[in-house]
Amino acid sequence: MEYHDVDAATLTSFSDYDDHYKVRFFNDPETGLRACIAVHNINLGPALGGCRMYSYGSEDDAIRDVLRLSRGMTYKNALAGLPLGGGKSVILGNPATEKTDALMAAMGRAVDTLGGDYISAEDSGTNEHDMATMRQSTPYVMGQAAAEGALGGDPSPVTAYGVFCGIKAALKHKYGSDSMDGLTVAVQGLGSVGYDLCRQLDAAGAILFVTDVNDAVLEKAGREFSNVQVVGLDEIFSVDAKVFAPCALGAQVNAKTIPQMTFEIIAGAANNQLETPEDDDRLMDKGILYAPDYAINAGGVIAVGYEYFEQSGHNPFPHDLTRANMMRHVEQIEQTLEKIFSIAEREGISPGHAADALAEAIFKGEAAAARSSDAA
Ligand code: NAD
Repeated sequence: MEYHDVDAATLTSFSDYDDHYKVRFFNDPETGLRACIAVHNINLGPALGGCRMYSYGSEDDAIRDVLRLSRGMTYKNALAGLPLGGGKSVILGNPATEKTDALMAAMGRAVDTLGGDYISAEDSGTNEHDMATMRQSTPYVMGQAAAEGALGGDPSPVTAYGVFCGIKAALKHKYGSDSMDGLTVAVQGLGSVGYDLCRQLDAAGAILFVTDVNDAVLEKAGREFSNVQVVGLDEIFSVDAKVFAPCALGAQVNAKTIPQMTFEIIAGAANNQLETPEDDDRLMDKGILYAPDYAINAGGVIAVGYEYFEQSGHNPFPHDLTRANMMRHVEQIEQTLEKIFSIAEREGISPGHAADALAEAIFKGEAAAARSSDAA
Protein backbone atom coordinates (compact mmCIF):
# COMPACT_ATOMS: atom_id res chain seq x y z
CA MET A 1 0.00 0.00 0.00
CA GLU A 2 1.27 3.47 -0.90
CA TYR A 3 0.55 6.42 1.35
CA HIS A 4 1.74 9.94 2.01
CA ASP A 5 0.98 12.71 4.48
CA VAL A 6 -0.65 15.62 2.70
CA ASP A 7 1.59 18.65 3.27
CA ALA A 8 0.43 21.83 4.99
CA ALA A 9 0.97 23.91 1.83
CA THR A 10 -1.62 21.77 0.00
CA LEU A 11 -3.96 21.65 2.98
CA THR A 12 -4.04 25.43 3.45
CA SER A 13 -5.79 25.73 0.07
CA PHE A 14 -8.85 24.07 1.69
CA SER A 15 -11.08 26.41 3.68
CA ASP A 16 -11.86 23.59 6.14
CA TYR A 17 -8.20 23.11 7.03
CA ASP A 18 -7.76 24.01 10.68
CA ASP A 19 -4.18 23.14 11.52
CA HIS A 20 -5.01 19.42 11.41
CA TYR A 21 -2.58 17.16 13.22
CA LYS A 22 -2.23 14.67 10.36
CA VAL A 23 -3.91 14.04 6.99
CA ARG A 24 -2.82 10.85 5.24
CA PHE A 25 -3.83 9.74 1.74
CA PHE A 26 -3.77 6.04 0.77
CA ASN A 27 -3.63 4.31 -2.58
CA ASP A 28 -3.63 0.52 -2.84
CA PRO A 29 -3.60 -0.60 -6.50
CA GLU A 30 -4.04 -4.23 -5.48
CA THR A 31 -7.48 -3.76 -3.85
CA GLY A 32 -8.44 -0.44 -5.49
CA LEU A 33 -8.52 1.34 -2.11
CA ARG A 34 -8.27 5.10 -2.29
CA ALA A 35 -8.85 6.67 1.10
CA CYS A 36 -7.97 9.60 3.30
CA ILE A 37 -7.66 9.69 7.09
CA ALA A 38 -7.67 13.05 8.86
CA VAL A 39 -6.73 13.47 12.50
CA HIS A 40 -7.75 16.98 13.51
CA ASN A 41 -6.67 17.17 17.12
CA ILE A 42 -5.36 14.77 19.76
CA ASN A 43 -5.04 17.12 22.77
CA LEU A 44 -7.57 15.09 24.74
CA GLY A 45 -6.62 11.63 23.48
CA PRO A 46 -6.60 9.49 20.33
CA ALA A 47 -8.89 10.73 17.58
CA LEU A 48 -12.20 8.87 17.30
CA GLY A 49 -14.45 9.17 14.26
CA GLY A 50 -16.24 7.03 11.70
CA CYS A 51 -15.16 5.66 8.33
CA ARG A 52 -17.38 6.92 5.52
CA MET A 53 -17.54 5.45 2.00
CA TYR A 54 -18.92 7.72 -0.71
CA SER A 55 -18.57 8.33 -4.47
CA TYR A 56 -16.71 11.61 -4.25
CA GLY A 57 -16.41 13.59 -7.49
CA SER A 58 -12.66 14.07 -6.93
CA GLU A 59 -9.84 13.58 -4.44
CA ASP A 60 -10.20 17.25 -3.48
CA ASP A 61 -13.88 16.68 -2.62
CA ALA A 62 -12.88 13.77 -0.39
CA ILE A 63 -10.17 15.79 1.36
CA ARG A 64 -12.57 18.71 1.85
CA ASP A 65 -15.12 16.37 3.47
CA VAL A 66 -12.65 14.57 5.71
CA LEU A 67 -11.14 17.86 6.94
CA ARG A 68 -14.60 19.21 7.85
CA LEU A 69 -15.82 15.98 9.45
CA SER A 70 -12.67 15.32 11.47
CA ARG A 71 -12.74 18.86 12.90
CA GLY A 72 -16.38 18.34 13.86
CA MET A 73 -15.42 15.18 15.76
CA THR A 74 -12.94 17.10 17.94
CA TYR A 75 -15.74 19.43 19.03
CA LYS A 76 -18.22 16.59 19.46
CA ASN A 77 -15.93 14.36 21.53
CA ALA A 78 -14.84 17.27 23.73
CA LEU A 79 -18.43 18.27 24.53
CA ALA A 80 -19.35 14.63 25.10
CA GLY A 81 -16.90 14.54 28.01
CA LEU A 82 -14.70 11.94 26.30
CA PRO A 83 -10.92 12.11 26.67
CA LEU A 84 -10.65 11.63 22.91
CA GLY A 85 -9.63 13.79 19.98
CA GLY A 86 -11.31 14.15 16.60
CA GLY A 87 -10.66 12.26 13.39
CA LYS A 88 -12.47 10.80 10.43
CA SER A 89 -11.73 8.66 7.40
CA VAL A 90 -13.24 8.54 3.93
CA ILE A 91 -13.03 5.85 1.27
CA LEU A 92 -13.51 7.08 -2.29
CA GLY A 93 -16.01 4.79 -4.02
CA ASN A 94 -19.59 3.68 -4.29
CA PRO A 95 -20.38 1.45 -1.29
CA ALA A 96 -23.10 -0.37 -3.24
CA THR A 97 -20.89 -1.39 -6.16
CA GLU A 98 -17.22 -0.95 -5.26
CA LYS A 99 -16.95 -2.31 -1.74
CA THR A 100 -15.18 -5.66 -1.25
CA ASP A 101 -13.83 -7.43 1.81
CA ALA A 102 -10.30 -7.05 0.36
CA LEU A 103 -10.81 -3.30 0.10
CA MET A 104 -12.10 -3.04 3.69
CA ALA A 105 -9.20 -5.19 4.96
CA ALA A 106 -6.84 -2.77 3.19
CA MET A 107 -8.65 0.09 4.95
CA GLY A 108 -7.90 -1.68 8.23
CA ARG A 109 -4.20 -1.67 7.29
CA ALA A 110 -4.48 2.03 6.47
CA VAL A 111 -5.95 2.76 9.92
CA ASP A 112 -3.14 0.71 11.48
CA THR A 113 -0.45 2.97 9.95
CA LEU A 114 -1.59 5.72 12.34
CA GLY A 115 -0.48 3.51 15.25
CA GLY A 116 -3.55 4.26 17.39
CA ASP A 117 -3.73 8.03 16.85
CA TYR A 118 -6.95 7.35 14.91
CA ILE A 119 -9.76 5.04 16.07
CA SER A 120 -12.28 4.12 13.39
CA ALA A 121 -15.95 3.11 13.54
CA GLU A 122 -19.03 2.73 11.35
CA ASP A 123 -20.38 5.67 9.35
CA SER A 124 -22.52 6.18 6.27
CA GLY A 125 -21.58 3.67 3.58
CA THR A 126 -19.98 1.23 6.04
CA ASN A 127 -21.53 -1.37 8.35
CA GLU A 128 -20.82 -3.80 11.16
CA HIS A 129 -19.49 -6.44 8.73
CA ASP A 130 -17.00 -3.90 7.32
CA MET A 131 -15.80 -3.04 10.83
CA ALA A 132 -15.18 -6.73 11.54
CA THR A 133 -13.23 -7.00 8.26
CA MET A 134 -11.11 -3.93 9.04
CA ARG A 135 -10.53 -5.28 12.51
CA GLN A 136 -8.63 -8.25 11.07
CA SER A 137 -5.75 -5.86 10.25
CA THR A 138 -5.84 -3.51 13.24
CA PRO A 139 -7.12 -3.24 16.81
CA TYR A 140 -8.10 0.41 16.20
CA VAL A 141 -11.59 -0.25 14.86
CA MET A 142 -14.74 -0.17 17.02
CA GLY A 143 -18.39 -0.98 16.34
CA GLN A 144 -18.06 -4.71 16.83
CA ALA A 145 -21.11 -6.87 17.49
CA ALA A 146 -21.83 -7.19 21.21
CA ALA A 147 -23.88 -9.37 23.51
CA GLU A 148 -27.03 -7.86 25.06
CA GLY A 149 -26.07 -5.57 27.95
CA ALA A 150 -22.36 -5.40 26.99
CA LEU A 151 -20.50 -2.43 25.56
CA GLY A 152 -20.38 -2.16 21.74
CA GLY A 153 -23.06 -3.07 19.23
CA ASP A 154 -25.56 -0.74 17.50
CA PRO A 155 -25.16 2.78 18.99
CA SER A 156 -28.56 4.04 17.67
CA PRO A 157 -30.64 3.36 20.82
CA VAL A 158 -27.94 5.13 22.85
CA THR A 159 -28.12 8.11 20.50
CA ALA A 160 -31.91 8.14 20.86
CA TYR A 161 -31.62 8.17 24.66
CA GLY A 162 -29.18 11.10 24.49
CA VAL A 163 -31.62 13.04 22.29
CA PHE A 164 -34.42 12.30 24.76
CA CYS A 165 -32.24 13.71 27.58
CA GLY A 166 -31.39 16.70 25.39
CA ILE A 167 -35.07 17.47 24.77
CA LYS A 168 -35.54 17.51 28.55
CA ALA A 169 -32.78 20.14 28.88
CA ALA A 170 -34.43 22.30 26.22
CA LEU A 171 -37.84 22.00 27.89
CA LYS A 172 -36.38 22.92 31.25
CA HIS A 173 -34.62 25.94 29.80
CA LYS A 174 -37.66 27.15 27.88
CA TYR A 175 -40.49 26.34 30.28
CA GLY A 176 -38.84 25.62 33.62
CA SER A 177 -40.18 22.04 33.58
CA ASP A 178 -39.15 18.97 31.63
CA SER A 179 -42.57 17.29 31.74
CA MET A 180 -43.41 15.62 28.45
CA ASP A 181 -46.98 14.81 29.36
CA GLY A 182 -49.09 16.21 26.51
CA LEU A 183 -46.01 17.75 24.84
CA THR A 184 -46.36 17.95 21.04
CA VAL A 185 -43.30 16.72 19.12
CA ALA A 186 -42.78 16.53 15.34
CA VAL A 187 -40.33 13.75 14.42
CA GLN A 188 -38.87 13.65 10.91
CA GLY A 189 -37.49 10.20 10.09
CA LEU A 190 -38.39 7.04 11.99
CA GLY A 191 -35.20 5.08 11.34
CA SER A 192 -32.89 3.49 13.90
CA VAL A 193 -32.72 6.61 16.06
CA GLY A 194 -36.04 8.35 15.30
CA TYR A 195 -38.21 5.32 15.99
CA ASP A 196 -36.55 4.63 19.33
CA LEU A 197 -36.88 8.30 20.27
CA CYS A 198 -40.62 8.12 19.47
CA ARG A 199 -40.92 5.09 21.73
CA GLN A 200 -39.40 7.04 24.64
CA LEU A 201 -41.47 10.17 23.96
CA ASP A 202 -44.63 8.07 23.72
CA ALA A 203 -43.86 6.40 27.05
CA ALA A 204 -43.41 9.86 28.60
CA GLY A 205 -46.87 10.95 27.39
CA ALA A 206 -45.95 13.06 24.35
CA ILE A 207 -48.25 13.62 21.34
CA LEU A 208 -46.36 12.76 18.14
CA PHE A 209 -46.49 14.04 14.57
CA VAL A 210 -44.35 11.82 12.36
CA THR A 211 -43.19 11.55 8.78
CA ASP A 212 -40.93 9.24 6.79
CA VAL A 213 -40.43 8.14 3.17
CA ASN A 214 -40.96 4.57 4.38
CA ASP A 215 -44.69 3.83 4.75
CA ALA A 216 -44.14 0.53 6.60
CA VAL A 217 -42.45 2.28 9.52
CA LEU A 218 -45.26 4.84 9.73
CA GLU A 219 -47.87 2.07 9.87
CA LYS A 220 -45.91 0.39 12.65
CA ALA A 221 -45.76 3.70 14.58
CA GLY A 222 -49.53 4.10 14.14
CA ARG A 223 -50.09 0.68 15.68
CA GLU A 224 -47.55 0.99 18.48
CA PHE A 225 -47.84 4.55 19.83
CA SER A 226 -50.83 5.85 21.73
CA ASN A 227 -51.06 9.38 20.35
CA VAL A 228 -49.53 9.73 16.90
CA GLN A 229 -50.49 11.46 13.67
CA VAL A 230 -48.77 10.78 10.34
CA VAL A 231 -48.15 13.89 8.21
CA GLY A 232 -46.68 14.51 4.74
CA LEU A 233 -42.96 14.93 4.09
CA ASP A 234 -43.22 18.70 3.55
CA GLU A 235 -45.98 19.15 6.09
CA ILE A 236 -43.72 18.22 9.03
CA PHE A 237 -42.09 21.70 9.07
CA SER A 238 -45.37 23.52 9.71
CA VAL A 239 -47.27 21.23 12.09
CA ASP A 240 -48.47 22.82 15.31
CA ALA A 241 -45.95 21.23 17.69
CA LYS A 242 -43.70 22.67 20.38
CA VAL A 243 -40.66 20.55 19.50
CA PHE A 244 -39.16 19.56 16.14
CA ALA A 245 -36.85 16.53 16.19
CA PRO A 246 -35.09 16.10 12.82
CA CYS A 247 -33.89 12.48 12.69
CA ALA A 248 -33.53 11.85 8.96
CA LEU A 249 -31.21 13.98 6.84
CA GLY A 250 -28.97 17.02 7.21
CA ALA A 251 -29.78 20.60 6.11
CA GLN A 252 -33.49 20.34 6.90
CA VAL A 253 -33.39 23.58 8.89
CA ASN A 254 -32.86 26.29 6.31
CA ALA A 255 -34.02 29.60 4.86
CA LYS A 256 -36.99 27.85 3.21
CA THR A 257 -38.22 25.76 6.17
CA ILE A 258 -37.58 28.18 9.07
CA PRO A 259 -40.29 30.66 7.98
CA GLN A 260 -42.83 27.79 8.01
CA MET A 261 -42.02 26.81 11.59
CA THR A 262 -44.03 27.60 14.69
CA PHE A 263 -41.90 25.26 16.84
CA GLU A 264 -40.35 26.61 20.02
CA ILE A 265 -37.55 24.05 20.23
CA ILE A 266 -35.47 22.12 17.67
CA ALA A 267 -33.79 19.09 19.21
CA GLY A 268 -33.09 16.00 17.13
CA ALA A 269 -30.51 13.42 16.10
CA ALA A 270 -29.65 14.33 12.52
CA ASN A 271 -26.12 15.48 11.75
CA ASN A 272 -25.61 18.93 10.21
CA GLN A 273 -29.21 20.00 10.74
CA LEU A 274 -28.56 23.62 9.74
CA GLU A 275 -28.00 24.21 6.04
CA THR A 276 -25.82 27.27 6.69
CA PRO A 277 -24.29 28.86 9.82
CA GLU A 278 -26.70 31.80 9.34
CA ASP A 279 -29.63 29.48 10.11
CA ASP A 280 -28.46 29.40 13.73
CA ASP A 281 -29.04 33.18 13.94
CA ARG A 282 -32.32 32.91 12.01
CA LEU A 283 -33.61 30.51 14.67
CA MET A 284 -32.43 32.78 17.46
CA ASP A 285 -34.17 35.79 15.86
CA LYS A 286 -37.38 33.75 15.68
CA GLY A 287 -37.11 32.71 19.33
CA ILE A 288 -36.69 29.02 18.49
CA LEU A 289 -34.33 27.30 20.92
CA TYR A 290 -31.89 25.11 18.95
CA ALA A 291 -30.05 22.24 20.63
CA PRO A 292 -26.78 22.06 18.62
CA ASP A 293 -26.82 18.76 16.74
CA TYR A 294 -23.36 17.62 17.65
CA ALA A 295 -24.05 18.10 21.36
CA ILE A 296 -27.43 16.39 21.48
CA ASN A 297 -26.59 13.43 19.21
CA ALA A 298 -23.39 12.41 21.02
CA GLY A 299 -24.90 9.27 22.58
CA GLY A 300 -23.54 7.11 19.76
CA VAL A 301 -19.99 8.39 20.05
CA ILE A 302 -20.10 7.95 23.83
CA ALA A 303 -21.11 4.30 23.25
CA VAL A 304 -18.23 3.81 20.81
CA GLY A 305 -15.83 5.62 23.14
CA TYR A 306 -16.68 3.27 26.00
CA GLU A 307 -16.15 0.29 23.70
CA TYR A 308 -12.72 1.69 22.82
CA PHE A 309 -11.68 2.24 26.44
CA GLU A 310 -12.81 -1.25 27.38
CA GLN A 311 -10.81 -2.79 24.55
CA SER A 312 -7.73 -0.65 25.09
CA GLY A 313 -7.53 -1.75 28.74
CA HIS A 314 -7.26 1.91 29.80
CA ASN A 315 -10.18 3.26 31.80
CA PRO A 316 -9.92 7.08 32.08
CA PHE A 317 -13.07 7.36 34.22
CA PRO A 318 -13.48 7.06 37.99
CA HIS A 319 -16.20 4.42 37.40
CA ASP A 320 -16.25 0.95 35.84
CA LEU A 321 -16.76 0.59 32.10
CA THR A 322 -20.24 -0.93 32.26
CA ARG A 323 -23.24 -0.29 30.04
CA ALA A 324 -25.15 1.21 32.99
CA ASN A 325 -22.34 3.72 33.64
CA MET A 326 -22.14 4.48 29.93
CA MET A 327 -25.87 5.33 29.91
CA ARG A 328 -25.30 7.58 32.95
CA HIS A 329 -22.58 9.34 30.96
CA VAL A 330 -25.07 9.82 28.11
CA GLU A 331 -27.47 11.48 30.58
CA GLN A 332 -24.83 14.21 31.04
CA ILE A 333 -25.93 15.49 27.62
CA GLU A 334 -28.75 17.14 29.55
CA GLN A 335 -26.34 19.13 31.75
CA THR A 336 -24.09 19.98 28.81
CA LEU A 337 -27.03 21.44 26.91
CA GLU A 338 -28.23 23.36 29.96
CA LYS A 339 -24.76 24.88 30.15
CA ILE A 340 -24.80 25.73 26.42
CA PHE A 341 -28.23 27.37 26.69
CA SER A 342 -27.26 29.47 29.69
CA ILE A 343 -23.96 30.61 28.10
CA ALA A 344 -25.92 31.56 24.96
CA GLU A 345 -28.47 33.52 26.98
CA ARG A 346 -25.86 35.26 29.12
CA GLU A 347 -23.66 36.24 26.19
CA GLY A 348 -26.51 37.02 23.78
CA ILE A 349 -25.17 34.50 21.24
CA SER A 350 -26.77 31.52 19.52
CA PRO A 351 -26.51 28.07 21.15
CA GLY A 352 -24.40 26.93 18.18
CA HIS A 353 -21.77 29.57 18.91
CA ALA A 354 -21.96 28.83 22.65
CA ALA A 355 -21.42 25.10 22.00
CA ASP A 356 -18.37 25.82 19.83
CA ALA A 357 -16.88 28.11 22.48
CA LEU A 358 -17.46 25.55 25.22
CA ALA A 359 -15.92 22.74 23.14
CA GLU A 360 -12.88 24.90 22.35
CA ALA A 361 -12.43 25.75 26.03
CA ILE A 362 -12.29 22.00 26.69
CA PHE A 363 -9.95 20.80 23.94
CA LYS A 364 -7.77 23.90 23.83
CA GLY A 365 -7.99 24.52 27.57
CA GLU A 366 -5.46 24.03 30.30
CA ALA A 367 -6.50 20.46 31.08
CA ALA A 368 -5.98 19.45 27.46
CA ALA A 369 -2.64 21.25 27.27
CA ALA A 370 -1.47 19.54 30.48
CA ARG A 371 -2.51 16.17 29.12
CA SER A 372 -0.69 16.63 25.82
CA SER A 373 2.53 17.77 27.56
CA ASP A 374 2.32 14.71 29.87
CA ALA A 375 2.04 12.48 26.84
CA ALA A 376 4.98 14.13 25.07
P1 NAD B 1 -31.60 5.66 9.46
O1 NAD B 1 -31.13 5.57 8.06
O2 NAD B 1 -31.81 4.41 10.25
O3 NAD B 1 -32.97 6.48 9.53
C1 NAD B 1 -33.27 7.59 8.73
C2 NAD B 1 -34.76 7.57 8.48
O4 NAD B 1 -35.13 8.74 7.77
C3 NAD B 1 -35.22 6.38 7.64
O5 NAD B 1 -36.37 5.76 8.22
C4 NAD B 1 -35.57 7.02 6.29
O6 NAD B 1 -36.60 6.33 5.60
C5 NAD B 1 -36.01 8.39 6.73
N1 NAD B 1 -35.95 9.42 5.70
C6 NAD B 1 -35.12 9.51 4.64
N2 NAD B 1 -35.40 10.61 3.91
C7 NAD B 1 -36.44 11.21 4.53
C8 NAD B 1 -37.18 12.40 4.26
N3 NAD B 1 -36.90 13.19 3.22
N4 NAD B 1 -38.17 12.76 5.11
C9 NAD B 1 -38.47 11.97 6.17
N5 NAD B 1 -37.81 10.84 6.46
C10 NAD B 1 -36.81 10.47 5.64
O7 NAD B 1 -30.57 6.62 10.20
P2 NAD B 1 -30.33 6.78 11.76
O8 NAD B 1 -29.20 5.94 12.17
O9 NAD B 1 -31.64 6.69 12.47
O10 NAD B 1 -29.80 8.29 11.84
C11 NAD B 1 -30.68 9.37 11.65
C12 NAD B 1 -29.89 10.68 11.66
O11 NAD B 1 -29.18 10.81 12.90
C13 NAD B 1 -28.82 10.77 10.57
O12 NAD B 1 -28.69 12.12 10.19
C14 NAD B 1 -27.55 10.33 11.28
O13 NAD B 1 -26.40 10.87 10.69
C15 NAD B 1 -27.78 10.94 12.65
N6 NAD B 1 -27.04 10.24 13.72
C16 NAD B 1 -27.22 8.92 13.95
C17 NAD B 1 -26.51 8.29 14.96
C18 NAD B 1 -26.70 6.82 15.26
O14 NAD B 1 -26.25 6.37 16.33
N7 NAD B 1 -27.37 6.07 14.39
C19 NAD B 1 -25.60 9.03 15.76
C20 NAD B 1 -25.45 10.40 15.53
C21 NAD B 1 -26.17 11.00 14.49
